[in-house]
Amino acid sequence: MRKNVTFTVGLNYSDKLIDTGVNLISTKLEWDEELLNKYNISGPRYTSYPTALEFSDDYELDSYITCLNSVSRDKSLSLYIHIPFCSNICYYCACNKVITKDASKSIRYVDNLIKEIKLISRQLNAKTLRQIHWGGGTPTFLSIEQIDRIMQAIRESFDIPDEPGTEISIEIDPRALALEDIRLLSEMGFNRMSMGVQDFDLKVQQSINRVQSFEMTRDMIVEARKYGFQSINLDLIYGLPHQTKATFESTLNKVMEISPDRISVFNYAHLPHRFKPQRKIRNEDLPAATEKLAIFEYIINNLQAQGYLYIGMDHFAKPDDELAIAQKNNRLHRNFQGYTTHEEYELIGVGVSSIGSLNNQYHQNVRDLPAYYEALENNQLPSWRGVAMSQDDEIRKAVIFELICHFELSKKSIEEQFQINFDQYFTNELTLLAPFVEDKLVVIDDTSIAITSRGRLLIRNICMMFDAYLNELHMKQNFSKVI
Ligand code: SF4
Repeated sequence: MRKNVTFTVGLNYSDKLIDTGVNLISTKLEWDEELLNKYNISGPRYTSYPTALEFSDDYELDSYITCLNSVSRDKSLSLYIHIPFCSNICYYCACNKVITKDASKSIRYVDNLIKEIKLISRQLNAKTLRQIHWGGGTPTFLSIEQIDRIMQAIRESFDIPDEPGTEISIEIDPRALALEDIRLLSEMGFNRMSMGVQDFDLKVQQSINRVQSFEMTRDMIVEARKYGFQSINLDLIYGLPHQTKATFESTLNKVMEISPDRISVFNYAHLPHRFKPQRKIRNEDLPAATEKLAIFEYIINNLQAQGYLYIGMDHFAKPDDELAIAQKNNRLHRNFQGYTTHEEYELIGVGVSSIGSLNNQYHQNVRDLPAYYEALENNQLPSWRGVAMSQDDEIRKAVIFELICHFELSKKSIEEQFQINFDQYFTNELTLLAPFVEDKLVVIDDTSIAITSRGRLLIRNICMMFDAYLNELHMKQNFSKVI
C-alpha cells in the first residue's frame, strides 16, 4: 500500500537545499514511500573515499612511513586511539572489538599502544595535536590510571595547545565508568564526550543485550557538564528489535530531558551473514519497513521541533554547537568518526584496526591483537593495508564529500580545484543521475548540483553515482540499506 509520510526538513525554499545554516525555515514536505522503496538499496556511508573495501594489502609499510615523514611541520594533527575491549557484547554491534571481562587483558595492549604512539611521533615532523578522539570498543574498559598513562605518553610525544579549540574527546560507556572518574578525565584534558544509548526502552535494551538505565546516563551527563565537557553527544539507533514509533517516542522524550548538544541517529544494519553477534537478533523481532520509516520520520520531525538542526545525513545538533556552526559556515567534513569540523588536520590512527588519512593516503593497522602485538614487540608499526589516492579518487572524494556534507556542489569550484571540465569528466555520472532528477531528488543546472529536501534522505544513493568502485555484488555483500 502506498503511504505518504510527512517530514519536516529545514529549508530556505521549497526546491533546493541551499542554506543549511541556523536560520532555517522549517518546511513540511510530502515524502512518497514508494519512491523511498525504489531507492532503498545497500550503499556505503562514505566515511572515506575510496571506502575501506578498496584498501590494498599490497600497500607497503615503507609507503606509510614515507607518508608520515612527508607531513610538513606546520600541519596540525588529529589522533584517533582505538581501544578494542568491551566487557559485554551488544548484539547489534558491527565494530572490531574484543569481548572480555578480564581487565588484565588490557595491560599488554596499553604497553604496545604507548610504543606505537612513540614510534609514530618519531616519524613525524609535525607535532601539534589539536584533536584527539578515543573510540572503540569501549575506551572506558581501561582503568583511569591506564587512560592517564596513555595521555601522558601523548603529551610527551606531541604538543597539545591549551586553547579552547583543542578537542579531546572520548566515547563513554556509563556502565563501565564511575561517576567520580568524570572529574579525573577532565583533569587529564578531556573536554568532549560521546555516549552510546541506542534506546531507553527496557525490552529493546534486553533484546540487544545492552541494559543501561536512563538515570545512569543522565547522571553521567550532569557530572560531565559540571566539569566543563562540551558538545556532549548521544548515539541512538532506529530499526532495533521490538522498537515501535511509540517506544521511540518515549525514548526521545527521555533524551530531551537530558538535552545533549548533539544526537547521532543511526540506522540499524542487520547483516547477520557478516556480523556474528547479530545472529542473536531474530528477523521477526525487527520492525517492519513501514514502522522503521515511521520512527525515522518521528525522529527528524521531533528533533527539529525541539530546536535541533539536522546536520549531514544522520546528526542533529543545537544551533550553537560546533557541528551546526561548521555546517552553517561550509566547514563540515567527514571522516571515520562521522561528521567533523576539521578537515585540514592530518589524521593518524593508533591501536588495532585503526584508520588514518594523511597526504591523500589512507592507512589501516592490522585487525587482530596477536598481529598487533607481534609487530610492535619487534619495534615495527603494525601496518596492514592502505591506498594512495589517484587524481580520479581525489576528484570523486571532493564531489562525494561536498554532497554528503553540504547537499550542494559548485561545479566551478571542482573545476578550479582539479583543472577539469565537470560536465565532460562526469558525463556518465550525470546520465546516471537522470532518474533522480526526474524524481525531484536532485536539481542539476549549468553551475551546480543541489539535493532537494526529499533527496536528502537518499544522499548515499546520490553519492554512489560518483563512486567508481561500486558494482552490484559489492553493494549486496558489504553495505547496509541506506535507510
Ligand atoms: S556496540 Fe560498542 S560497547 Fe557494544 S559491543 Fe560493540 S563496541 Fe562494544
